[in-house]
Amino acid sequence: MARKPLSLNDGPESPFVHLCQPDASKSCGACCGLYNYADSGREDLAERLRGRTRLFRETVRGPEDLPRFSEVVKGREDGRKRYEVIHCCEYVGFLDEGERRVGCLLHPMQNAGRDMRDVSFYGRELCDGHFCPSYSYISRAEKLAVLEILDDWYLYGACITDIDLVKEFFRLVSEAAGEMPAPARFSDPALRKAARRFFELKLAWPFRSEAANRFGKYSFDGTDYSIFVIDYEALGCGKSRFDRIFLSLQSAFKNRRDVQKAEDLIRQHLEDVVGRYKELVDYH
Ligand code: SF4
Ligand code: SF4
Repeated sequence: MARKPLSLNDGPESPFVHLCQPDASKSCGACCGLYNYADSGREDLAERLRGRTRLFRETVRGPEDLPRFSEVVKGREDGRKRYEVIHCCEYVGFLDEGERRVGCLLHPMQNAGRDMRDVSFYGRELCDGHFCPSYSYISRAEKLAVLEILDDWYLYGACITDIDLVKEFFRLVSEAAGEMPAPARFSDPALRKAARRFFELKLAWPFRSEAANRFGKYSFDGTDYSIFVIDYEALGCGKSRFDRIFLSLQSAFKNRRDVQKAEDLIRQHLEDVVGRYKELVDYH
């Protein structure tokens, strides 16, 4: 649920890092079910959000118009979900003209101060008060670094909610670099580009499983889920040091050679990041 007020980050000294609506270039709507449509590709989602936003702006003047809005959206969109137990909210839309920020069309900041989230599946209180686990588990430095690195809603939402991917990336970079890079370092264009290329693997990973019941490290079975396990023994090799990253990237390997190729890819991306970071540190 993209629920908190917009753009609360007050700069690097602010103790609280706002992940839902961090700045003008991106935002997240993952817990409103944005990625839970059967087709959750970038273009399909953008098309949905564009249509809803237009309809909302044209037809909703107050809460009395919302039942009709909901009916029209549900009637014209493909409502098939990946996981039935996860709700997909019809009120996520684009919040800005440039279609850079996704979020709640019912939020008071979208409606001249009027909060219309009472009608939602979760209700206003839940929508307003929810903080996903990323708020707790991702450190402040890691959050600020991700905000420097990513600037598009689709990739940002997919990555900021993937705690393992974020934490493993910074852990491995910190180990190789000898320290956690200060978040501001990622404003260097070459370092940002190298780090972004790593996170882009989330969308273009050659070993990604297309199994309908997989979602990152999770494996769904009807209404229940479990953590997927890569059976390295069956593949003829030991557990990879990149296991957590492989799971986040929803990997499925056919054989040991696949694992080796995947490890090479991750290693190369990390080396690019660490190599550029060391250049920056040495230069100063
Ligand atoms: S009403 Fe829907 S879009 Fe708005 S915060 Fe709640 S779940 Fe998200
Ligand atoms: S998944 Fe987390 S960061 Fe994304 S909108 Fe929900 S609470 Fe905010």
